Amino acid sequence: MKYYDKLIFEFSREGRKGYSLPKNGWKASLSEIPAALRRETPAPLPQVSEPDVVRHYTNLSQMNFGVDNGFYPLGSCTMKYNPKINEEVASLSGFTGIHPLQSESTVQGCLMVYHELCKALSAVTGMAEFTLNPFAGAHGELTGLMIMRQYHILRNDLGRTKVIVPDSAHGTNPASAAVCGLKVVQVKSTPEGTIDVEDLKPLLDDTVTGIMMTNPNTLGLFETEIRQIADLVHGCGGLLYYDGANMNPLLGKVRPGDMGFDIMHLNLHKTFSTPHGGGGPGAGPVGVARRLENLLPYPRVILGDDGAYHLLHDKESAGRVSGFMGNFAVQVKALAYIWTLGRENVRMAGPLATLNANYVKESLKDVYRLPIDRICKHEFVFDGLADQSTEVTALDVAKRLLDCGFHAPTIYFPLLFHQSIMIEPTETESKETLDAFIATMRQIASEAQTSPELLKTAPHNTPVRRPDETLAAVHPVLTVQNATEA
Ligand SMILES: *Cc1c(COP(=O)(O)O)cnc(C)c1O
Repeated sequence: MKYYDKLIFEFSREGRKGYSLPKNGWKASLSEIPAALRRETPAPLPQVSEPDVVRHYTNLSQMNFGVDNGFYPLGSCTMKYNPKINEEVASLSGFTGIHPLQSESTVQGCLMVYHELCKALSAVTGMAEFTLNPFAGAHGELTGLMIMRQYHILRNDLGRTKVIVPDSAHGTNPASAAVCGLKVVQVKSTPEGTIDVEDLKPLLDDTVTGIMMTNPNTLGLFETEIRQIADLVHGCGGLLYYDGANMNPLLGKVRPGDMGFDIMHLNLHKTFSTPHGGGGPGAGPVGVARRLENLLPYPRVILGDDGAYHLLHDKESAGRVSGFMGNFAVQVKALAYIWTLGRENVRMAGPLATLNANYVKESLKDVYRLPIDRICKHEFVFDGLADQSTEVTALDVAKRLLDCGFHAPTIYFPLLFHQSIMIEPTETESKETLDAFIATMRQIASEAQTSPELLKTAPHNTPVRRPDETLAAVHPVLTVQNATEA
């Protein structure tokens, strides 16, 4: 272990410090804080110098893998490179120095960003209106389902309790439906990997709230029957929800609004230039068709006849979904991304992401098993190695990739196959990077035949080797005290 790999607490020395706080500009003194809220003993924080802190966190950051370290082909998550200029725009003091309780008239510029982003997302998706208030994709799903429920309640159609979700859906779809108090009914996929319309038909009746879908679906396949599915679901009085977390391949090509969807969410932290992982910050804007506009959560931002932006609290709204108006810095990055690319270049993202995915798929399908051999969209799924005679698993392949300087793809998802390896290269990678990844995946496939033990014990040269995931789940070590005891 290197000297600076020690825990930050181990560097602590009484009285040492590396910070200076700004002068307290408030007139109030400590005595105005009620006694019950005052701390009696100082917080047990490490007392360390500035260089110790800088080295600690810099070294810690080197132990991790991010999209700034290398290629990150994480299917279903769109880990693309996000231009640094958008970070710079989001950190302008006019954006960071505001308070959510300021009056409308003092934050007109920020309200304009909100409003312009809603307009841009409407143009990209074909939905009439957006809210940017939800904090994540799953939060957007919940918001969308609340809107769906509100729609039926306002029509006094109170018997609708079911939500139809395909068996290939992202896990958050059934989870959000359950959180919204709705019953989840699964519709099967055909052997070709798309929704089985014959299995859907008998599920459609007057208890259906709606269907949640993603297109291209989780296998990266385009649901070509979408118009028929939309007609069937609308025919029984239900609504269509589009999970647009993976909108990337559609950008500028196909709009969910044109496919017949009524409600959708986007993940700004996948498609629109916010790096993600580790749980945030994110944004899951929700778009709706015109007739559902009034049901969007409040507050909404509207441009008044007076030329100023105002906050609107609609009476029919499905309610409030966040304390204020979402993660504003994420919204600024998304607008900066869309405006710097412009209409023409936003259109290039989807086709390039699709081309890259198909290039990697075709270059590897002789050594990895490709259960659904079709043109894919932004991602595709292998089911383990083509040579199934070795004991090497998807997990072993993923771990070995880390040794070679690549992040692992998504593994064991979707659940339709036993050894899913889900790859999404995204549009931001060069042909040289893709070729290097392909060469490494081929090398791993041949290692599986010649030296499987090497893969079983991988990774060999990462700061953390293969953790025992079962033990970690059963006995998680969550505090520094426990870590030093362990
Ligand atoms: C990532 C993802 C989600 C969930 O988004 P979060 O921001 O992680 O809550 C939902 N659906 C699909 C298809 C996704 O890829």
